[in-house]
Amino acid sequence: MLAASASETTKSGVQRVDVAVVGAGFAGLYLLHRLRKAGLSAVALDAASDVGGTWYWNRYPGARCDIQTIDYSYTFDPELESAWKWSEKYATQPEILRYLGFVADRYDLRRDIRFGTKVTNATWDGAAERWLLTTNSGATVSCRYYIMATGCLSSPKPPEIDGVSDFKGEVYFTGRWPHEEVKLAGKRVAVIGTGSSGIQAIPLIAEQAAHLTVFQRTPSFAIPAQNGPPPADRVALLKSDRASYRAQARDSLAGVPWPQSTVVSWQLSDAERRERFETAWAAGDLVYILTQLWADQGVDFEGNAVLADLVREKIREIVKNPETAAALTPHDHPFGAKRPCLDTNYYATYNRPNVTLVNLRQEPIKSITASGIKTDKRTADLDVIVFATGFDAMTGAIMAVHPITGRGGKSLSDVWTHGPQTYLGLTVAGFPNLFMITGPGSPSVLSNMAVSIEQHVDWVVDRLIAMREAGFTTIEATEMAQAGWAQHMADCSTLTLHRLANTWYTGANVPGKAQGVMPYPGGVGPYRSICNEVVSHNMLGFRLTGPNGAEQCNDGQIVRLQPDVRLVLNMLADMKLPPLECFGAQGARDFLAAFNAARPAGRPVGDVVDGTLPVTGGSLPYRLYRPATPGPHPILVYFHGGGWVLGDQVSDEPFCRDMCRRSGMIFVSVGYRHAPEHRFPTAAEDGYAATRWIAEHAADLGGKPGPVMVAGWSAGANVAAVTCQLARDRGGPQISGQLLVCPVTDCTFDRPSYNDNATGYFLTRSLMFWFWDLYCSPADRTDPRVSPLRGKLQGLPPAFVATCEFDPLRDEGVAYAEAMAAAGVPVEQLKARGHFHMSLTMVDVVITGVSGRVQMADALRRFAGLPSAWREGDVGFRPSQVVAPHEIASAAE
Ligand SMILES: Cc1cc2nc3c(=O)[nH]c(=O)nc-3n(C[C@H](O)[C@H](O)[C@H](O)COP(=O)(O)OP(=O)(O)OC[C@H]3O[C@@H](n4cnc5c(N)ncnc54)[C@H](O)[C@@H]3O)c2cc1C
Repeated sequence: MLAASASETTKSGVQRVDVAVVGAGFAGLYLLHRLRKAGLSAVALDAASDVGGTWYWNRYPGARCDIQTIDYSYTFDPELESAWKWSEKYATQPEILRYLGFVADRYDLRRDIRFGTKVTNATWDGAAERWLLTTNSGATVSCRYYIMATGCLSSPKPPEIDGVSDFKGEVYFTGRWPHEEVKLAGKRVAVIGTGSSGIQAIPLIAEQAAHLTVFQRTPSFAIPAQNGPPPADRVALLKSDRASYRAQARDSLAGVPWPQSTVVSWQLSDAERRERFETAWAAGDLVYILTQLWADQGVDFEGNAVLADLVREKIREIVKNPETAAALTPHDHPFGAKRPCLDTNYYATYNRPNVTLVNLRQEPIKSITASGIKTDKRTADLDVIVFATGFDAMTGAIMAVHPITGRGGKSLSDVWTHGPQTYLGLTVAGFPNLFMITGPGSPSVLSNMAVSIEQHVDWVVDRLIAMREAGFTTIEATEMAQAGWAQHMADCSTLTLHRLANTWYTGANVPGKAQGVMPYPGGVGPYRSICNEVVSHNMLGFRLTGPNGAEQCNDGQIVRLQPDVRLVLNMLADMKLPPLECFGAQGARDFLAAFNAARPAGRPVGDVVDGTLPVTGGSLPYRLYRPATPGPHPILVYFHGGGWVLGDQVSDEPFCRDMCRRSGMIFVSVGYRHAPEHRFPTAAEDGYAATRWIAEHAADLGGKPGPVMVAGWSAGANVAAVTCQLARDRGGPQISGQLLVCPVTDCTFDRPSYNDNATGYFLTRSLMFWFWDLYCSPADRTDPRVSPLRGKLQGLPPAFVATCEFDPLRDEGVAYAEAMAAAGVPVEQLKARGHFHMSLTMVDVVITGVSGRVQMADALRRFAGLPSAWREGDVGFRPSQVVAPHEIASAAE
């Protein structure tokens, strides 16, 4: 261990240290420990009179953690882990506070903490490359690095009700509960607020008070904690291999080692779903219920509604008075979009004769008077009012240090006027050497904070060590990196349902606060790997400077892929598959069949019918997907992907089912013949012949007679495009629209996307070469029946062309769309940012592809002369759009 460099105090009383840490909670304590070990001088400042942070301030009855305590603990020192034993599954506040005190003593941390010291403002001195912190006690600290470990939930929200100071009784705030015993026995008590703190406190207050009146504005979902000793199975799992248990937590989505369930709700029967739900209800674990039931509950509105309904049913079962039960039942947000609470007897408390629920949606508080609370309908006479009104979360404590003045005199509150802007939730452009632990833009409150805090502390301290070794003295995020992170945050937000609820996650609980999802919703494990990538990419997005003009800046955006695409590609990379072209044609087909067998088949449709249709020299299999709605429906002829070599009429099954449901059309997926057995122009001629036959037999197939549409993906989109040209030139059939998804349109490989995306995005340049070689000899490649871009484009049916940013075929798709438009064809384009060749067809895996499919289905309906496909149930699928709560409520109903 290095000896820590000394902290010194100048003549003017300024304490000079390498690092000033604000906060002495979970984060501040671990920071101090790590900084000392790294040989950096450090001081921690805390407004409280002792360590503990959250657990110092929140002493209200019932305060406890809602992540199992064996997981909500430090993991940096195995000896510490062995030295402490938790007594409960969810420990109470006093026990957690004792634990943090134990940690402070064990590592002798208190000697570097200045208690009762609130930092009031902070100023960056560019010339000295130091921060100067001013405090309420008059003490000042000069530091090279300023680390805010000020907590996400440490700034209580002031009550928004007039007259609090007129009240003559006792007033308490759950987040600032007195250290002395609060006697509630025999008193008339009101609790305002039914978030996590209120839900924990209400049952215990009800047991003591003569009467308890609960004032509720918005009900929350709560599940029972089923508290007791730490569950034996989890403890055994931890003890059996501590290191691997902790490693799994670090790589998980929420910071607790539960592998995410991959089953989706519609694959389960009602009975299976209920059984899973009852198991989760009995398990009493938020992370369990959020990860183990069905994979779509966190990302899909319908999958979530199934779960939310089951919880609502429980509330109705427990609460005897139906009116009270209805008032306690949330309808304004998906389950989990607002932090669900973990309770002990919460709902049952409303069956007590001494408890009254006041629904503020029906009777808002008019005023607080000397003797109680007045609503439109009643006056409650009270001795005590408890405010459980929550926190100005994530940014409150940071902004309370005001001003924080960065480079060029910029104030953080100005930079954050429209919401927090950060790089990785750790740093802010324009504020050198300032770090935030679990800041906005990091997983923070969407995770087990103990895991997230350790990851942040380790990352920051490791960077300070690396800078010292490399001779750098300042570090600052670039604007480009920060803007890229905002984009990635927005992309992650479209993936989850958090954007559909007005909550403290989005800033909606604080009047006037800028709104947007503040914690990083992409998961703890992915986030950790991104932070590590920043380092391995030579500190991507940071400018580092040092003495004598030393400077390093590798500017750029750390994540350009959509978050789920990134996961899929990482997963594929981890599988270390040999290139598909090594298998040979039959081997590659077998591989694809095995790959497809392992994926969900797709959502239910009205009817699935297999058949064959005749073509010259043989017959082709087809599979028809019919919507569940009454027909007859318009017909679309679909051609699968697979480079004219692989795939069949069922290989794009999930995509066909999904598009059939969304568009309300019959999809007929055709198994056209493949190379190398059937080389050019077989696929093209099969496509045309199949379309002609299907159009002629539309009525027999249960479809609407008249024009058909064609669609395809990849080489299938090539077949669809060619079919449109052939149908125009050969006198029919009439085609009313073409949907081309990542189409092959031309035989040259010199467009930039062929180089930019040559490898690493599943469809590689060399795989495309192989497909071309198997299907078509060089002499034939300029024929419009394989390179439709070289054909005549006038008079083609209206087109919708979708291309993906990270696809070798991107530029030829765009070129075809532009060329058709130039030839007078009505063309719509979707350029899917951050997506790869498979994104739009990987239904239920690449969730961010949903908005693209919604747009495609809408285009198809326009081609067929049908009204838009938007339905109220689609509300959760709308791309990157915050939806008004009333829409969700009505959709839920
Ligand atoms: C009731 C409750 C239950 C919770 N349960 C869980 C749980 O089960 N699992 C979980 O993961 N998370 C939980 N949390 C979140 C909890 O906040 C974190 O887990 C964790 O304790 C945060 O630690 P921290 O050190 O980052 O911040 P905090 O513990 O909030 O500490 C921040 C400290 O900074 C000090 N400070 C702030 N501003 C200044 C300033 N300007 N000057 C001086 N000092 C300042 C504060 O006084 C405070 O002591 C819970 C939160 C609450 C309120």
